[in-house]
Amino acid sequence: AKSLGKNQYCVYKEEMGFHEVRKLELEKDLQRALEDQQFFIEYQPKWNVKTNSLWGFEALLRWKHPRMGIVSPNEFIPIAEETGFIIPLTRWTLEEACRQCKVWNTAGIAQSVSVNLSTRLFQTDHLIDWVQDALEKVGLEPCLLELEITESMVIYDIQDIVRQLQCLREMGIKVSMDDFGTGYSSIGLLDRLPIDTLKLDRLFTYDLDSPSKRAIIHAIVLMAEQLHLDVIAEGVEHEEHIAFLTQLGCFVMQGYYYGKPMKQDIIMTWVNQKQS
Ligand code: C2E
Ligand code: CA
Ligand code: CA
Ligand code: CA
Repeated sequence: AKSLGKNQYCVYKEEMGFHEVRKLELEKDLQRALEDQQFFIEYQPKWNVKTNSLWGFEALLRWKHPRMGIVSPNEFIPIAEETGFIIPLTRWTLEEACRQCKVWNTAGIAQSVSVNLSTRLFQTDHLIDWVQDALEKVGLEPCLLELEITESMVIYDIQDIVRQLQCLREMGIKVSMDDFGTGYSSIGLLDRLPIDTLKLDRLFTYDLDSPSKRAIIHAIVLMAEQLHLDVIAEGVEHEEHIAFLTQLGCFVMQGYYYGKPMKQDIIMTWVNQKQS
């Protein structure tokens, strides 16, 4: 930063801390990162323990910053949401994930890919067109695409989001509720939201020693059954997690125990190993 000279940094105030300066830099660098191809996607498997088979993959975005190295989505997604850059970024992610999913399919791995969506996408009036464009461009069947939304996004304009979700589901796309159990009024929303899957937040898996957490998971699983929803547990890291979760009736899992997020070029090898 020192070598760049005074003028370039005139926007920075003296009293700004490290985090604020870094945020401003990232915000500025985001604009070029897409055209410079600094983003890539890692795919994390979801595993069905009942059938002992692959359930699908989640697309997780990564930014390889030329100076700072890998920046976590926890850091750059909020910035991208603030600046609106999340829109072109998500369109890229959607298309890239669909293209990858098509490659797997052609190779005989008929598994879905899920993409995380921010609220901002639902406020554009173009989401449905963009999703359709991505599918058509790569020739992927809609039933192989899943969109992950969070509870917190729905508090803005539930009717409008319900309408868009209905439309997406009519196209054959799946919808899942991410981080379930950490937001607001989760249970009331389930009645109104057209979704297919609940993803139990990692916090529940993390704390399975607690009898109250176990009671909550059990209740969620029973409720999900009645509502014809699938339940996926996130953050499964240890064998004890699996034992607890299956006892509670949850059979689809995602977490480091089964597989970390992986670059696209090692996915095929990973799948072949798992299947042999
Ligand atoms: P998420 O959607 O809840 O994704 C799960 C996060 O948990 C991922 O972090 C994943 O790497 C991590 N994880 C998976 N298994 C385990 C485990 O067993 N233990 C632990 N400790 N962690 C595990 P990641 O990749 O850093 O992503 C963080 C968040 O960034 C995501 O949380 C999601 O909210 C957001 N994100 C990532 N990609 C995108 C994207 O393309 N669009 C949007 N809007 N958000 C994204
Ligand atoms: Ca997710
Ligand atoms: Ca999650
Ligand atoms: Ca999360």
